[in-house]
Amino acid sequence: MSAIELISLVNQSLFIGLFVAVLRHALRERTRATLDTALLFGSVAAVVTVSRLAQLTGTSDAPLTTPFLLLLLNLAPFAMIRLVDDFSGTPRWVQIAGAVTYVGIAALGFTFAVQPQLVELAIITWFVAVGGYAAFAFARESGRTRGITRRRMRAVASGAILFIGAIVGIFVGALLAPEGAFLGIVSQVAALAAVLAFFLGFAPPSWIRRAWREPDLRVFLERSIHLMGVNDERRLIIELQQSAAAAFGATGASIGISDGERPVLRYDDGSGDWMELPEDAFIAGRAFTQQRRVVALNAATTDPANADVYEHTGAHTVIAAPITVDDRRIGAMAVYADRAPIFVEDDLWLIELLADHTAVLLEARDLARHASDLQAREEAARLKEEFLSAAAHDLRTPLTVVLGQAELLERRLARNPAAPVDAVGVSRLAKEARRLRDLVSELLDAQRLEQPGAVMDRDVVDLREVVDVVRKRQLEHDLAIQVEEPRTPVRSSIDRMRIAQVLDNLIENALKYGLNHVPPQVRLWEQGAEARISVIDHGVGIPEAEQDRIFDRFYRASNAQSITDTGMGLGLYICRRIAEEHGGRIWIEPTAGGGSTFTMALARAEPPVEPDVVVAEPHWIGPTAEAAADA
Ligand code: ADP
Repeated sequence: MSAIELISLVNQSLFIGLFVAVLRHALRERTRATLDTALLFGSVAAVVTVSRLAQLTGTSDAPLTTPFLLLLLNLAPFAMIRLVDDFSGTPRWVQIAGAVTYVGIAALGFTFAVQPQLVELAIITWFVAVGGYAAFAFARESGRTRGITRRRMRAVASGAILFIGAIVGIFVGALLAPEGAFLGIVSQVAALAAVLAFFLGFAPPSWIRRAWREPDLRVFLERSIHLMGVNDERRLIIELQQSAAAAFGATGASIGISDGERPVLRYDDGSGDWMELPEDAFIAGRAFTQQRRVVALNAATTDPANADVYEHTGAHTVIAAPITVDDRRIGAMAVYADRAPIFVEDDLWLIELLADHTAVLLEARDLARHASDLQAREEAARLKEEFLSAAAHDLRTPLTVVLGQAELLERRLARNPAAPVDAVGVSRLAKEARRLRDLVSELLDAQRLEQPGAVMDRDVVDLREVVDVVRKRQLEHDLAIQVEEPRTPVRSSIDRMRIAQVLDNLIENALKYGLNHVPPQVRLWEQGAEARISVIDHGVGIPEAEQDRIFDRFYRASNAQSITDTGMGLGLYICRRIAEEHGGRIWIEPTAGGGSTFTMALARAEPPVEPDVVVAEPHWIGPTAEAAADA
């Protein structure tokens, strides 16, 4: 046996082997696409078998052998037209023209003995026309699809081109015989490659499907992990649907979520709203109520009541699976495609996997939300308790004083109604009552600032104006604050009252914890994208170990007790919350030479014209802590 004969024998055996594989598949899963694939491979396998038999029986030159072989061979383009329709749709007239042409060419084959060249020319034209059409149609389809479907369509398009090349090569090789022998071999190899490409495209074995799907599946799994953090449930569902469709290379997917109490499934309606449907509606509903996967190769026949919806959405084939964890029925997932051959039996494991994964994801998300709700409720309860016990503790002392003083006055009045008014006692009473009012206000304010969004009225304001208001207010109490600020506006978007409150608070603390009654200094400046305000005192300072905690609720540092017992440890907490609500921050540093510097940074509302211009007011005395540290 020559090398050429050996190659040809191997090729032909492979053709037959592939045909057997395709046929088995078609018998197991009898759809139009699998049968058409079997027809395509069967045509080639039949040509191989019949010509071998003819050689063996010595009937190769019998008058009917060639026409019969051509009859079988010309079936291949006909099958290809049908396959184009199965996978991407073919106009009806093309299908009819294909059938008519096949009959015509097959009949023409019987005149082969009389006019061989005409017959060969007709066959070459038939193959080139159909192969070209198929290659174009599948290439176009591959552009429209994703994932595994795209790979399959590409394989088929390449197969169609190789197929044309092979057939043309064989005929041209025969015409040029004996010089065309080499062309014959090349054509045989091309034919084999074509059949392999068709095999991969039309009937890929499971292991190839899995390998092709792997990247999309991985994307699905990776993406779904990030989706855990998505708060908006609709967005989560939409993303999961897209990932599931991509993993299948399908047209789309839909996920219905069970209401839990009423018998409905909630779907995203595609326009930003939820749509409720009876839980058994559509094929997804069937998977949900029956708690099993459902394959509908023709959705309109499986669920005729909704045929128009399937047609409208391009859902020709649908596979669906329930989304369930243990016994909890969460919903159902359906993946659909506009062409039947996209899905096969072994896709069921995939939809089940995706549905299970989705179930775990939704369940975990639910649990996490539940846990954080619980935690928030616990935190709120703890907070209320903390406020209550602080109120009870801190308000009791002034209340006792108020009550004691009032009772004293009451007794005096009872003893001697005509006695002169105890002016000192009354003013002490008023003072303690005012203190009580301030403490209650502070307590309420701190509680209000617990919630985010407490700072409401924001305007773009020149911070120098706020500093000025505070300075004047302090001046009314005979306190001359020293201010250092630039000559140009320092703008920030702030709640004016709240920022003034922070400054008042810091100044009040500076006085409370100041040793020598030297008025505190205020410095306003721009730094990068921030506006900064410092309140600088030369008081007792704060032990380093406690500096982190003084902004906590109810925290009073060890330095406080010996100086004053009036505070509740809420002032700095309120300052911090106000700064945070503005998107800013507040911190403390030691003042050079003793004392503390509190600085608040806020985002500037516009970039500086000249960032370095910081001009001191004439009445400024001495450097700030930061300037000293910089020096
Ligand atoms: P309080 O009502 O006790 O003043 P704050 O929240 O205003 O509560 O302050 C918390 C603690 O931080 C104070 O108890 C005090 O120990 C410390 N502190 C605040 N401001 C200063 C300051 N300017 N100098 C030294 N220590 C301060």
